[in-house]
Amino acid sequence: MIDASLRELAGALAAKRLSSVELTQLFLERIERLNPSLNAFITTDPEKSLALARAADARLARGEGGPLTGIPLAHKDLFCTAGWLTTCGSRMLSNFVSPYDATVVKRLGEAGMVTLGKTNMDEFAMGSSNETSFYGPVKNPWRPEAVPGGSSGGSAAAVAARLAPAATGTDTGGSIRQPAALCGLTGLKPTYGIVSRHGMVAFASSLDQAGPMAKSAEDCAWLLNAMAGFDARDSTSLERPAEDYTREIAARGGDKPLDGLKIGLPREYFGEGLAADVARAVEAAIAEFRRLGARTVEVPLPNMGLSVPAYYVIAPAEASSNLSRFDGVRYGHRAAEYADLIDMYRKSRAEGFGAEVKRRILIGTYALSHGYHVAYYLQAQRIRRLIAADFAEAFTSCDLIMGPTSPRVACDIGDMAGDLIQMYLSDIYTIGVNLAGLPGLSLPCGFGERGLPVGLQIIGNHFDEARMLNAAHRYQLATDWHRRSPQP
Ligand code: GLN
Repeated sequence: MIDASLRELAGALAAKRLSSVELTQLFLERIERLNPSLNAFITTDPEKSLALARAADARLARGEGGPLTGIPLAHKDLFCTAGWLTTCGSRMLSNFVSPYDATVVKRLGEAGMVTLGKTNMDEFAMGSSNETSFYGPVKNPWRPEAVPGGSSGGSAAAVAARLAPAATGTDTGGSIRQPAALCGLTGLKPTYGIVSRHGMVAFASSLDQAGPMAKSAEDCAWLLNAMAGFDARDSTSLERPAEDYTREIAARGGDKPLDGLKIGLPREYFGEGLAADVARAVEAAIAEFRRLGARTVEVPLPNMGLSVPAYYVIAPAEASSNLSRFDGVRYGHRAAEYADLIDMYRKSRAEGFGAEVKRRILIGTYALSHGYHVAYYLQAQRIRRLIAADFAEAFTSCDLIMGPTSPRVACDIGDMAGDLIQMYLSDIYTIGVNLAGLPGLSLPCGFGERGLPVGLQIIGNHFDEARMLNAAHRYQLATDWHRRSPQP
């Protein structure tokens, strides 16, 4: 059961071969046994999970369940969950219990999914290795010395180690796709605006987007069906007709199911900086897509090299504003002793935030300050526009873009600690997608050095999730990388 797809789990629940309570217990036992070494979860509450499972069983018994009813999942600890701690991986929120559910949590809850707990993450989602969490680093289930990627590293490790059938993540510059790649999972960062950000602790509001992390593209499509949709509580939520993201997957394939599909390969994604083991696996995957009927064309993305510098102005600028609300007054950590109000702000923030978060607040405040915002912030926004234009131009000659998700397989904990630039550059292939508001998906396509998973990235045009998921699904029908698990 721990390797089962969501479709298989739904089938077993519908046929009463097992109950949601039994399924939830199975995963809770695994969490209890394996989480102490993995550190993938910050919070679990078996009583609450089992109560949700009992409610799901009752719904199923009345014949009122949907396809996801009774299936457990884990939430990144950035989604507000009523009654559960929401720490965002920070000391600042280490005592915070939200009075309401994030829209994503609410929608998945209404679909009948059972919350298993809240997963570890880089502090305020700032990081690519999960080493910035106040709750300590997460281990990669494929190799305990290695990082799981970040910032949704706890969600990735939990699903890879089969502590949960699926999880939610958020992606501001790569935080769903990169940990999915490093842990051998399928993860989707949707088009900006189709999944509500209401109740997500904000990092960089113009980039943040929630999405599913699971074992396959089909599982991601099922989850996205429940997650996506207009929400009046998010001012950037898009009002569009509801879509069935499984619709292309459900269609018949034939032996050339991707006939007619044009895949763009950006030269910039295969050049300097890409490790040879990752390049080999990604190229083999692209050859498989050709066998499935797709054609490949080269597409230029000339400004891609500017994406990381532009991101590291825009994201910290937005973060410096978003994180100003953590002042020790309304919620979160407050220093025990202080002289006056200003001293209370200062001490609470000094104690509550870790080094990477403070660095971003400083950079962002500087970039937005009078006299500098034209040189930094506005310039970065112009570059953002150029990058979006590059993608728009590329999509005039192809349907999907493919390349690596991450330049390297997972490094070991501590390896990048002294080299922030190296850490920032590890998102070189993912960040442009967020800057352009596009959907991006990572799926496993082989193994590289030290037997660690490699991820293939599929980038789609706005709102083209169904096509991306279908392409990934056809590849997964023809290969079995996504079925490999680090479990003995
Ligand atoms: N690694 C990037 C950063 O540190 C992206 C993080 C994310 O997507 N949340 O900002």
